[in-house]
Formats: sequence, C-alpha cells, structure tokens
Amino acid sequence: MPTTVLSSPAHYVQGKNVIAELGTHLKNLGSTPLLVADDIVWGIVEDALGKGFADAGLAVVRVGFGRFATPGAVDGLVETITSGGHDVIVGVGGGSAIDAAKAAGHLAGVRWASVPTAASSDAPTSALSVIYTEEGEFIEYRFFPHNPDLVLIDTQLVANAPVAFLVGGIGDALATWVEARATARGTGSTMAGGRPTHAGTALAQLSWDLLHENALAALDAVRAKVVTPALEAVVEANTLLSGLGFESGGLAAAHAIHNGLTAAPQTHGLSHGQKVNFGTTTQLVLEGADAEELADFVEFSTRVGLPNTLAEIGLTAENTAELRAVAEAACVEGETIHNMPFPVTPEAVVDAMLATDRIATRVRVERSLPAPQMHHAKH
Ligand SMILES: [Zn+2]
Repeated sequence: MPTTVLSSPAHYVQGKNVIAELGTHLKNLGSTPLLVADDIVWGIVEDALGKGFADAGLAVVRVGFGRFATPGAVDGLVETITSGGHDVIVGVGGGSAIDAAKAAGHLAGVRWASVPTAASSDAPTSALSVIYTEEGEFIEYRFFPHNPDLVLIDTQLVANAPVAFLVGGIGDALATWVEARATARGTGSTMAGGRPTHAGTALAQLSWDLLHENALAALDAVRAKVVTPALEAVVEANTLLSGLGFESGGLAAAHAIHNGLTAAPQTHGLSHGQKVNFGTTTQLVLEGADAEELADFVEFSTRVGLPNTLAEIGLTAENTAELRAVAEAACVEGETIHNMPFPVTPEAVVDAMLATDRIATRVRVERSLPAPQMHHAKH
C-alpha cells in the first residue's frame, strides 16, 4: 500500500487581538527574532506587537519587504538573519512576506513563524514557499523539511483589512476541497510528500462546508470591521483548514491553471485567490462535474465576488495564444494538474477554459447574478 503523509504547523493561534501575545509565543522559539513586514503592515501592527514584545523581554527588529517572494528577496533576508544573529524569523503580513520569511529561515537554519494580517491565502501554515519573479510570474515551489513552528492570526486585523483580501482567501480556500477530492480519486502525491491521509481530505471538505455556511456573513463582518463567529469560522477555513487541506489533501488542476495564468500579463493585478477561482471553475468543467454542482459553484463564487469568466481575469476567447500558453504552463511535467484522476493535455485545458467562460456567463444570466466586468491590468 502507498505511504500516506500529514504535515502541520506545531502551533496555531487564532483570535481577536492575539497580535499582542506574539512576543509570549515567540519566546518559546528564540530570543532574537527578526520581523519581516512592509511599511503598511508595520504601521498597522507596530503598537500592539511592540507592547507584547516588551512584556516578553524581546527586542523589536524589523526589516521591510517588497511585493513578491523573489529569489533575491529571500537571499537578502538570509543575509540579514546571519549578520544580525537572529534565531527565529517572523513573516508578518501577506502571503509573499510569509513565503519569503519561510524560505529564508530554512536557508539560514533558524526557526520560523507566520503572522498573517489578512486571511487572503492558505500560504501561512505550509512547509513550502511559492517563489515569483519581480513581475509576479510563478517560478517554483520550494519545499522545506518542516512547517512553521507557529502560525498566529489576529481576527481583528482580518476584520480591519480590505474586504478584497478576504474574498481572495475564500477563492484560495474553495479550491482546496475540489482539488483534494480529485487527488483522492487519483494516484498522485500531495505537497506533504505521499498519498493523502483521510484526515487531510476531511479537513479540505470541512473548509468547503464552513465557507458555504459562513462566507457571505463573514464578508459582511469585514465590511463592518467587526469580529463575529462567522468571520472566525472563515478565517479558520481560509488559513488552517485550507492550509492543511491543500498541503496534505493534494493540489490538482485549479492551482496548476492559476500558475499558468500568472504568465499572462492580462491577469496581473489580480489576487492569488481570484486567479485560483477561475482555475477551480475550469477544473470542475474539465472533470465533467454535475451540471447543478457547477452552476451552484458559479453562483456561490459570484456572490462572494470571485471571477469565473475570462473577462474577469482580463482575457477573451480570442486570446488564443495566451490561452494556449496558460494551458501549456499548467501541464508542464511536475505540475499538480497531473494529480487529476485522468490524463490532462493542454488541448483539454484550453477547451475547458473556453467552456467555463460560456457556462459561467449563461448561469449568471439564468440566476440573475451580476454580469462579468472586464479586468484591465495596469502596466
Ligand atoms: Zn493557493
């Protein structure tokens, strides 16, 4: 029988105002932490975080961060860790700062922690980083021998963040069950390095169920900048459950199509979760999902505010060269699309993307949902 693997962070802390407790938790990991945060994030967390660090007797040392986890950004952080004698690195903010901190912590041989300030992706819990170019094009996954020692997420910070961040996180998390289900049906491996455990697959499904029950109410909570049980449930679904679910349940076509889309300049400016949601819808079409399941997914993701048509990701059916390039990139050797329980070719992906566009457009008319708006990438 094949080996099954589950991978998870050592410690997960979620709650209102828990950013003030970061120092207390970090003290268990090291004595000279290095914080990585861009200026906007730092302005938001500095006061509460600083007080907690003082209580714990830790010095606050912070470095800034650019837009993407590039190879250069990672190497720069390794140098800062080494020259400053830091024993733990803490990525604070969005997925890119966290991914860069993880990759640098691994290379420098120190411990690392993730402190997301929005529930915008499921990057924080995993033992891998996604590395991009300066322009935001996907380069590679980097895998590490263990997950973060600590993941801490303050739900009041999530409530205060722009609602688009939570929308993106929901898009990333909705993919998790669709991809884990496909991986379970096939024979491929998860990011954790083996076949999925029943636990990994079940956590992916729990994320899906919690999102369907709570996502719309959670978005209302963020619009009001308040923390409610619905928001707490969605933060857990987006961060912990989707994180464990993708890493140990398996990625498949949705994320491979996302990775392909990053190469199309028309999609620049869209969040990870927005591009993933087009990938999820396309995966459902590719696998011949039941018509009602597909229509329900189009309706739900439209109500959340996620794209499921070509126009919303900046493309049209006439962009044949771009669509072909996206499909080719999605199908390169080693991509997670090969976890699908049947062989997938670039031709099949192009056909599925074109069909997705037609189906989603029709469902939105039939169900009186907003018409798609064209996305225009800024140059
Ligand atoms: Zn993702």
